[in-house]
Amino acid sequence: MRVLLTGGSGFIAAHVLDILLDHGHSVVTTVRSQEKANKIASAHKSAGKDKLSFAIVEDIAQENAFDEAVKSDPPFEAVIHTASPFHFNVTDVQKELLDPAIIGTTGILKSIKKSAPSVKRVVITSSFASIVNPFKGNWPDHVYSEEDWNPITQEQAVENPANGYRASKTFAEKAAWEFVEKEKPNFSIATMCPPLVLGPIVHYLNSLDGLNTSNQRIRDIFQGKAKEEIPPTGTYIWVDVRDLALCHVLGIEKEEAANKRFFITTGYFSNKQIAEIISKHYPKYKDQLPGEKTPGGDYPEGGLYKYDNERVQKVLGIKFRGLEESIVDTVKSLQEVGA
Ligand code: NDP
Repeated sequence: MRVLLTGGSGFIAAHVLDILLDHGHSVVTTVRSQEKANKIASAHKSAGKDKLSFAIVEDIAQENAFDEAVKSDPPFEAVIHTASPFHFNVTDVQKELLDPAIIGTTGILKSIKKSAPSVKRVVITSSFASIVNPFKGNWPDHVYSEEDWNPITQEQAVENPANGYRASKTFAEKAAWEFVEKEKPNFSIATMCPPLVLGPIVHYLNSLDGLNTSNQRIRDIFQGKAKEEIPPTGTYIWVDVRDLALCHVLGIEKEEAANKRFFITTGYFSNKQIAEIISKHYPKYKDQLPGEKTPGGDYPEGGLYKYDNERVQKVLGIKFRGLEESIVDTVKSLQEVGA
């Protein structure tokens, strides 16, 4: 298939790109600069220009940002939209989080409808942030599934960056489903809703300092930041980036994925477990790691929400990797960038 992948420089997108190429698809990926395109190209020298090329989209928050990128010869059959800000280092939630997420999503759907009639499927990276009810805490009585929607409002969204990020994912995904309902485009969509995504980084795009948000807790643990007290885990469910990337690719390949929302989680984890796995496999970090008696980082005593992850296993046939494999591979990948 001829596929447009947005945000090719991202942590998750880098794995989506690898799997797309591995499955024989021909990919155009959007990046913000030629410099990023060059880095990706030089890491994929074996893929000729017919298999991998680039479109520069500097800012997805601009209306019509994707108007040119969706045009291709041969034409696109599928689009995977991963680009969206995921960090909390913002001063203006509306401009830096909400606009790029929402306008980025509605913008690409409009551009496809207008200029890329051959596209049959659009897969969108959403998040558990659009499912979770952050006002219910650990909510032990509840089972989260694709039926749940974060009830966050615009007023709450602009209160702080954490609310802003969760709202950006919620509003963007809602806008996508509304677009399909109202505009009845030629394509179907599938949305991917992962919680915390852990797993190896691709070395050619990364540094330890500029690490993607979700892997920072692993770096912080082996760099000694949890030695006296392990920080609270926060989100207690996770998925490996390679499993999530495969879900994205299956989302364009499988007819049955059409018009479905997928809640994609392997299961529970805690920061304490991450520290234990690093300690077991990487004794060289022993002096920086928390010990057996270090407080914090465990599961909450009052219990936790449950999760229903059946749809992704049944419809996409995904088998999840375990936490140990994921953490071991992540640390190994961080060593390649100097850990
Ligand atoms: P990254 O920060 O690694 O990737 C984000 C990507 O979006 C980058 O390619 C970035 O480009 C691009 N981007 C951000 N803002 C803009 C903008 N205004 N204009 C153009 N491009 C932009 O994060 P992840 O790979 O982790 O996240 C990818 C997607 O997955 C996001 O939609 C995120 O919300 C979602 N997600 C991630 C989770 C996680 O735990 N990692 C959990 C749940 C969902 P550049 O590199 O040039 O800044």
